[in-house]
Amino acid sequence: GTQVVDKKVDSVCPFCGVGCLLTYNVKDDVIVSVEGRDGPANHNRLCVKGRFGFDYAHSPQRLTVPLIRRPGVSKDPEMLNKLNRDSSDWSEVFREATWEEALALSTGKLRGLRDTYGNKALAGFGSAKGSNEEAYLFQKLVRTGFGSNNVDHCTRLCHASSVAALLEGVGSGAVSNQVNDVEHSDLIFVIGSNPTANHPVAATWMKNASKKGAKIVLADPRITDIGKHAWRTLQFKPDTDVAMLNALIHVVIEEGLADQDFIAKRASNFEALRENVKGYSPEAMEPICGIPAQTLREVAREFAKAKGAMILWGMGVSQHVHGTDNARCLIALVTVTGQIGKPGSGLHPLRGQNNVQGASDAGLIPMMFPNYQRVTNKAAHAWFEDFWNTKLDDQPGYTVVEIMHKALADDSDPHKVRGMYIMGENPAMSDPDLNHARHALASLEHMVVQDIFMTETAWLADVVLPATAWPEKDGTVSNTDRMVQLGKKAVSPPGQAKPDLWIIQEIARGMGLNWNYAGESDGVAAVYEEMRQAMHAAISGITWERLQRESSVTYPCLTAEDPGAPTVFIEKFATDDGRVHLVPADIIPANERPDAEYPFVLITGRQLEHWHTGSMTRRATVLDAIEPMATASMCGDDMQAMSLQAGDVITIASRRGNVAIHVRRDDGTPRGAVFVPFAYYEAAANLMTNAALDPFGKIPEFKYCAVAIRRG
Ligand code: SF4
Repeated sequence: GTQVVDKKVDSVCPFCGVGCLLTYNVKDDVIVSVEGRDGPANHNRLCVKGRFGFDYAHSPQRLTVPLIRRPGVSKDPEMLNKLNRDSSDWSEVFREATWEEALALSTGKLRGLRDTYGNKALAGFGSAKGSNEEAYLFQKLVRTGFGSNNVDHCTRLCHASSVAALLEGVGSGAVSNQVNDVEHSDLIFVIGSNPTANHPVAATWMKNASKKGAKIVLADPRITDIGKHAWRTLQFKPDTDVAMLNALIHVVIEEGLADQDFIAKRASNFEALRENVKGYSPEAMEPICGIPAQTLREVAREFAKAKGAMILWGMGVSQHVHGTDNARCLIALVTVTGQIGKPGSGLHPLRGQNNVQGASDAGLIPMMFPNYQRVTNKAAHAWFEDFWNTKLDDQPGYTVVEIMHKALADDSDPHKVRGMYIMGENPAMSDPDLNHARHALASLEHMVVQDIFMTETAWLADVVLPATAWPEKDGTVSNTDRMVQLGKKAVSPPGQAKPDLWIIQEIARGMGLNWNYAGESDGVAAVYEEMRQAMHAAISGITWERLQRESSVTYPCLTAEDPGAPTVFIEKFATDDGRVHLVPADIIPANERPDAEYPFVLITGRQLEHWHTGSMTRRATVLDAIEPMATASMCGDDMQAMSLQAGDVITIASRRGNVAIHVRRDDGTPRGAVFVPFAYYEAAANLMTNAALDPFGKIPEFKYCAVAIRRG
């Protein structure tokens, strides 16, 4: 029957970047169910994660008391390989403490490291799982309290390369068109993305458009579910994105399908692009990328002739040492065909986390202040020194993977990282080459971790601070569509857990900053309003008060009356000269290729039911029941060649680490490759991945490294 609830509270889904609005049904301070609500990105739709992934918030494993590492208990990264999340008892490693004691210990240590070794000795990781206000305040703390720009978050592992290419090419890292604009497309080009699993409600807009006649093209080494709806599937060989995309651009130019008028008025550097793609005919690229030349020609023609053609992409594009080049090719493809700056067209990097767009906008990145103002830009630097009334470092900080290297740097290195503050991130699961990353974390002289669960990272901490889950606080998050959306507090935090914004402020005070954000929503409104000023024009029309009324507003939004701009670049691009800047790309091979010893390619990623490092979804009863264990996917041909049956245990090993895991048959996985989701601590895919970086986005090559597979 119908459940009687005490209250209904409006919020936003805490998982993916689609940003579905939802309502929590609450009884006796417990969320009993979730319903979709009519948000602009979801129109009442929710996927299985949003609908059923909520009881993690009430898990008995929640952290409820501050913890301090017991004296003499060493930090053992190897222990994480034997850890059982559900049954591990941390009382031998940590003791309970008061908030006062835990905060005093951490801030005393961090202050001491800063004062002894200088401003580069400290670093901070925030999180795309936190709100905009938390991201803004966290980066402000690192820049003004720790004294450097050593602040980053998981965007570095996600779309950093896409953003590097977009800032260079079109002057803005955000999407040009919103997902449900695909209803105006007649060609939807999905590349390096598995939307039915990772952006399920976004995938419904694609499927609905296809039902009305739009053609879907799926370009991916793995044929995933959206491929069932595709007019053409381009199952290119892993790592050959640039070869395939340059071939498409080649056809457009060679067959006279380029939009010359658009190029003349709106692009620069076209001649260099044209020269470069001359050597990339589909016939020459066929043996490299594995797609028949005729198919490449068909797809290029259809793309160029479409009334609207839109590209949506994911980590399959970005997580390569040539991730920035991959995205440059996508920018070039829409430019030469004039498929940008109008409805149903454009560039849409599908954002992974619920707030990876917003956390980046808010400045949680080492080379830029809020709203992508470079720390090396004199005017921006002066503006923020004035705005925050303090001296600021003018050197870019280190990125996620670089910070791990700096933690293990020589004692004589003046930039050696010795202390860290980590809020809501789990780098001991999400970073590449985990053995290295875990040793780096364990080597820190002081690490304070703020989270809702005892994550793998928290196990290596000196101090662990219990924080609030998303339904336990007010805040805003910004989705893949550039919508700032409001979530309201639905339930109380457990035990002594505290709001993240309160904890950041306490750490700031301990570092000597005189902060006091108070008032509406426990200070959230005050932080939001300061952030709105720091972001200049981008969200100036989105006041806290307006968000209370409208729940969701699209930016750029300049004034209180501005409805927001769902499509951008209609008149001009956001670059200095208003033109799209084309950048030719050439083939750069993966950092580590298969060989006789390690003959398979490892591809890592996500799956529908589990979110990232699994700390939330694996504690959500329904989701854990649907996908209870780690599996690796291989195609039937490869399994047969190794006499494997579905359900058999295999060991996958790279030069860096190995996991034992059950094998699952998935014929969408290409021959010679194995796919492993990174959500499972008991078979942590990132033990094997390669930390080689894209030189521009500094993103690691999660989508390609060499592994060996053996039975048992
Ligand atoms: Fe949540 Fe994304 Fe699913 Fe929507 S599509 S319910 S935002 S996980």
